[in-house]
Amino acid sequence: MTSTRATGETEVLETHTAELFQEAVRRAARLLCQNEVVALPTETVYGLAGNAWSRDAVSQIYQIKGRSPENPLIVHVASFEMARACVAVWPESAAALARAFWPGALTLVLPKSASIPDEVTAGGNTVAIRWPSHPFTQAVISACGFPLAAPSANLSSELSPTTARHVQKSLGSLIPLIVDGGQCQIGIESTVVDLCSEPPRILRPGLITASAIRAVAGDTGSGMEAAGSALLRSPGMLAKHYAPKARMVIAKWDHSRDLQQRIAVEYPWAGAVCVISHQLIPSAEHFARVSVIPHDPEAYARALYAELHECDEIGADLIVVEAPPDTEAWSGVKDRLGRASGGACAPLWAENP
Ligand code: AMP
Ligand code: MG
Repeated sequence: MTSTRATGETEVLETHTAELFQEAVRRAARLLCQNEVVALPTETVYGLAGNAWSRDAVSQIYQIKGRSPENPLIVHVASFEMARACVAVWPESAAALARAFWPGALTLVLPKSASIPDEVTAGGNTVAIRWPSHPFTQAVISACGFPLAAPSANLSSELSPTTARHVQKSLGSLIPLIVDGGQCQIGIESTVVDLCSEPPRILRPGLITASAIRAVAGDTGSGMEAAGSALLRSPGMLAKHYAPKARMVIAKWDHSRDLQQRIAVEYPWAGAVCVISHQLIPSAEHFARVSVIPHDPEAYARALYAELHECDEIGADLIVVEAPPDTEAWSGVKDRLGRASGGACAPLWAENP
């Protein structure tokens, strides 16, 4: 028995029993084998997946998302053998990082193999690959027998989805199938490491930190630079990305009253103000919404996009986010907050233009 909810022409399949899971795997694999694109859960964010060997499927991904052709896709695999088929070389640094962090939220950039179409890599000679840990994605990739190119399952200008409902909101009837695998457990995009540069660089921070990577990559990773100089190499590093519709600022405050007064002076036009805090929780009475995310980088990452989606849904004019701590464990969260607010994540009162 399958559980299906119709949304226009988009089928939504649930996966919370063994039968539903298997049926959804079969349905997704069948569509993917026909070069269709479908939305699948992963542990980072929901992905819009297509056969990575197929130019046709990959072109549809760009078209549906309205994604710039200059922004390359991550290729998702479900074995070391499949990963090696995507790349021209498999250096010891890649093998060590893959052994330590795969399946998981680490993407490796390596020279691409001839079988990866240029469309996947935006014309470049390197490819980004990852072995996701989500059991559904793994099962679909194994059933297909080919890797899946998959960016986040949202229109390019919008927030990344961490639930099937977020995907529905953004892609509505544009795709034949959304598989509901529950809330994403990581909640922000993977850490991207470029192993083609010397020394290797982090192109996009995530929950797997530079120190963790350095500890595994040994000498290769010892001189590893953090993101910064890599801006143009990695389009996901654009200054404004992953942004909500509302204007967003990152701030620190001591008291509710202090926060309220500063908002009144600096943003007099903002009718509906949402606050996302983790330590200093303001009184809710003067704001449209006050949410509290636990003071822990993993829990915070898991909840962040869902909170921003909620703020957009209630029609927030302004979202004020309490600045996260300035430690390495928070670097992925800080990066996304910085870019959602349109600039560097300043510890005080920073705003997007
Ligand atoms: P997403 O935007 O989450 O789909 O992740 C894709 C991101 O991975 C891109 O925006 C880039 O930052 C990065 N990426 C993918 N392929 C490559 C590549 N060949 N070289 C460098 N970065 C890449
Ligand atoms: Mg994306």
